Amino acid sequence: GNQPAGKTRGGEIAMQNIVKDFGHFRAVNDVTLKIASNEFFTLLGPSGCGKTTLLRMIAGFEMPTKGSILLDGAGIASLPPNQRPINTVFQNYALFPHMTVADNIGFGLKMLGRPKAEIEKTVADMIRLVRLDGREKNLVTQLSGGQQQRVALARALAPQPKVLLLDEPLSALDLKLRKSMQIELKRLQMETGITFVFVTHDQEEALTMSDRIAVMSEGQVRQIGSPWEIYDRPAERFVADFIGETNFLTAEVVSVSGDRARVRLASGAEIPASFPANTTPSGKVTVVVRPEHARAAPVSGASVLRGTIHDIVYLGTDTHLHVVLEDGTPFMVRQQNARSGPCGYDKGETLGIELSDDVAQILRD
Ligand code: ATP
Repeated sequence: GNQPAGKTRGGEIAMQNIVKDFGHFRAVNDVTLKIASNEFFTLLGPSGCGKTTLLRMIAGFEMPTKGSILLDGAGIASLPPNQRPINTVFQNYALFPHMTVADNIGFGLKMLGRPKAEIEKTVADMIRLVRLDGREKNLVTQLSGGQQQRVALARALAPQPKVLLLDEPLSALDLKLRKSMQIELKRLQMETGITFVFVTHDQEEALTMSDRIAVMSEGQVRQIGSPWEIYDRPAERFVADFIGETNFLTAEVVSVSGDRARVRLASGAEIPASFPANTTPSGKVTVVVRPEHARAAPVSGASVLRGTIHDIVYLGTDTHLHVVLEDGTPFMVRQQNARSGPCGYDKGETLGIELSDDVAQILRD
């Protein structure tokens, strides 16, 4: 491969038609996906959608009811969890409170019977990697939550697994710390070259860190793509709704040319729109426009839509204008705030809405 010397080559995971039933309840319903070597891959979805169950099957804590899981092309069904080159970091860290930082990090290597000198060297490398220099001899109970999370990461990385599974590892941290750990995790993944499979229900966290995201609901993968694709090219309503703030408009397809369509909105305005691959939009469709791609303006010829302001929410960086369009459809405009003063609009005011070029996305039926 072309990865820098000293890096582990991350494992490649292929899941084929995975089904998991708990009694009569189907928690995972026919999931097929490939996670590339060295990828930061995120399973994103609401509580109960089956993310953790999928992760536990990769780890070997659960067996699929149907389907197969391959690691670097070979089936791993017969391997118990401790014989898979895969490690897991849990939300609650699961550290040993009576042990030092160094002993916690070296624990897995000790269990594997590695020589003492090798363990010491690896522990020192890991301490540096997660930036806990000077804390080696502390008990983990003497550390902050963020530092404990670093110990848990170091311990899981120490045996150089091919794949690291992370199940909501940042959810116990406060917002500021969580944001800095997001950047830290991405750095760790890039420096080690280990494949990371990350589970979260937090869409912003997924967008921040991932090379690719699989959006899940009710045991199924709804869409897989880069953060940009998931946010700007959602293929269906669930994905558009789950990620960020979204406006839904009904529209009529006027024409299709290549990968672009023109649609007529209820206001009569015609705008360009993109659509998901392998579909040919026609007739009545639902179109997505993100609030930051719309601008409030006086009603004029350039207004694509017209409506009345029902609510104004000031958010520091932005102001959200909650508008109701002429046909009764709710529509949100996100205006960037200037330092010169509030946005200048009032509730009840009628305004025009202009759209940036090419901001509309047609959803799959
Ligand atoms: P969360 O973010 O809340 O952990 P999740 O997306 O990770 O949600 P899972 O933990 O994978 O969801 O659970 C998926 C569904 O399977 C849930 O409805 C859950 O109640 C059910 N489930 C999970 N494990 C078991 C089990 N051992 N026995 C029965 N049902 C289970």
